[in-house]
Amino acid sequence: MNSLPVAGGPPPVVRFDSPQFHRKNHPRMPPTVRLLPLIIALGASLGCYAPTVQRTRTYHPSDADLSVTRIVHSSAVIDFPETKILLDPWYNPTPPFGPSEPMGLSLENLPPMRGILITHKHDDHFDADTLRDYPNKSLRVIVPPGLGAQVRAMGYQDVVELEQWDRSQIGSVIVTAVPARQSVLENGYVLQGNSVTLYVAGDTRFDGQMFREIGGLFPTIDAALFPVGGIRIFGEQLDMSPEEAADAFAILKPQHVIPYHYGLTGPMPLFLGTSDAEKKFQDAVAKRDETARKAVVILEPGASWHHYR
Ligand SMILES: [Zn+2]
Repeated sequence: MNSLPVAGGPPPVVRFDSPQFHRKNHPRMPPTVRLLPLIIALGASLGCYAPTVQRTRTYHPSDADLSVTRIVHSSAVIDFPETKILLDPWYNPTPPFGPSEPMGLSLENLPPMRGILITHKHDDHFDADTLRDYPNKSLRVIVPPGLGAQVRAMGYQDVVELEQWDRSQIGSVIVTAVPARQSVLENGYVLQGNSVTLYVAGDTRFDGQMFREIGGLFPTIDAALFPVGGIRIFGEQLDMSPEEAADAFAILKPQHVIPYHYGLTGPMPLFLGTSDAEKKFQDAVAKRDETARKAVVILEPGASWHHYR
């Protein structure tokens, strides 16, 4: 331990030409040590991170042919009244990335589900802690190829791996896996029940040919969930920008579109997102066709949209 200056005595003299100021006289610090301040700053922000959960908000069932309730970011309850489906539940974010908005519904306030849909294995869509916490392990879980064994190991008994363009069923709803563009294998899904068609795009990047292909098979889409966050992590684009999502809207022409996948935050500059992405998406849709502005349904966390045929 270094000796401390004696109280009242002269302070120790440290001259600029002292050895500690000469890098060449010191062993070069390893990268982890040089990055320590950044790591500590990140750690501090992670340690403080906790999403707000509005525990008092309850789920209100509806008699609509289709209801969609946004929980947070890209988590949602899809409600074909007799068949409720939980989409990409995300209650245990992995720092440094987390939701930038409060949770709209707590896990314990969710209505009874018939199934869970998982689009792909990214933390904000495939949240292993939430899946383990979810109490009912007898419902059907639909995942892209390669995730089935992991979900079964959590205790789920009815797990279906869906290849793109293959079909399965949750309760009364037909589920078709459709392509999505992501750095890992991802499924989009088309859900059909009550004579209503809902397209869940996941957090796909823009691919005009892919959207034309999906639109060719499903020419009438009543509602769509489109990612609009314009999110980049480590420079990699993760979903569509609001402008690209408006291009996708122009190709698929859903009757209604709910923007999602914009409630994510993380440490700058590793994470870059678009501010007010949902409003920019609505403006971009309206710029192409003002009459389409009303097709865009913006849902705050916990808010529901109800569709009647
Ligand atoms: Zn995502």
